[in-house]
Amino acid sequence: MAKRLNGHLKKTDLKKLKNSLLAIEERIINKQLTKNVNFSIIQKSDNKDDVDSANNNILISNDLRFSNRERLYLKKVKNALKMIETDEYGMCTDCGSPINFVRLQARPTSELCISCKEENEREENQNAGGRTSKSLGKTVSLV
Ligand SMILES: [Zn+2]
Repeated sequence: MAKRLNGHLKKTDLKKLKNSLLAIEERIINKQLTKNVNFSIIQKSDNKDDVDSANNNILISNDLRFSNRERLYLKKVKNALKMIETDEYGMCTDCGSPINFVRLQARPTSELCISCKEENEREENQNAGGRTSKSLGKTVSLV
């Protein structure tokens, strides 16, 4: 497939979007640094008190799962920044239509246009039952 370039975005708008992406990137990185500090505090208190250790383990696994999601988000942000450099940013990765600025401003990591996104969500809702029971099973095995 030929590359589609984002002719629909003004240079000034692109700059705004790039700035918000950079701000998000910085926020996630700062948050992860803070979280690593919390993580070591939890480990220390774990050694002190065996009674609470089960609770602490759950806390840690929830924490890791959360930062996994953030790592994924950070990857999306970095990818979006890369696509700004190559003028591919703001194009729907599914149908290739331009994604409008208002949508990008609300969510700078958007990779799908509104109509593809809505179709995507409909499919997700249809599969939601199966997915929920799967993740429940995971939680049970962790405890
Ligand atoms: Zn689309």
